[in-house]
Amino acid sequence: MAVIGRSGLLVVCLAALSTLFMQNMHRDSMLEGVPSGKTRVLDLSYAINDKLVAWPGDEKVFEAKVNATIEKNGYFTRSFWMLEHYGTHLDAPAHFPPGKTTVDQIPVKQLFGPGVVIDVRAESGKDADYQLSAAGVEEWEKKHGHIPEGAIVLLRTGWASRWPDVQKYRNQDAKGKMHFPGFSVEAAKLLIARKVSGLGCDTLSIDYGASEDFAVHHVSLGAGLYHLENLADLSEMPETGAFLIVAPIKLEGGSGGAVRVFALLP
Ligand SMILES: [Zn+2]
Repeated sequence: MAVIGRSGLLVVCLAALSTLFMQNMHRDSMLEGVPSGKTRVLDLSYAINDKLVAWPGDEKVFEAKVNATIEKNGYFTRSFWMLEHYGTHLDAPAHFPPGKTTVDQIPVKQLFGPGVVIDVRAESGKDADYQLSAAGVEEWEKKHGHIPEGAIVLLRTGWASRWPDVQKYRNQDAKGKMHFPGFSVEAAKLLIARKVSGLGCDTLSIDYGASEDFAVHHVSLGAGLYHLENLADLSEMPETGAFLIVAPIKLEGGSGGAVRVFALLP
């Protein structure tokens, strides 16, 4: 067994410190590189209109009315109405019990975090009812290291390639039951233990489509996490190394709402 002397220990400490310093430097330069275009930014939100894939049963989803036009008024304004859970949106903990926090109350620090992408496109391609297992999360960790506290964990199922085709995206059977992949309760519990800030997916729901009890919603929103649903194409996202900025509409008392999600690429 090698004995680390005092100078050896110093070298180890310095190496650890410099890694930390480099990581911070990297994050700073990531942000600074945005205006110049040096840092690539992905917009993971869909533009909002009245033709997006809605949850089955949601009839009226979005409406925009022109209030003023350049021709008549010299300026252009509209008013709009929409569901809180429509298009790319955030579920606040208050959406399901025992969660309590409304969308405007989510701590700001929870809205910024390292992006963890768990790729299940192969599994989802074979089985539309696939649920990410806790073992799947551990497999990611074997490859990339421990999921950091404050991470925002996105499930990449490949479902975005079906958007905005209602039939293909909902994938309903003859009985109307939907079939798309999601997180399992065990995976959600492990991610809660890792102290992540939120979960996201490129499907209609964090729970798999056939779910009837929305078990993951209860568990993760109950633990104070938020959900990002109907995220746009995640195919360019690296499994690790991106930094996410989550900017939901600040609706007082809201159960959720439209969200803009940006990914700063490494
Ligand atoms: Zn929702």
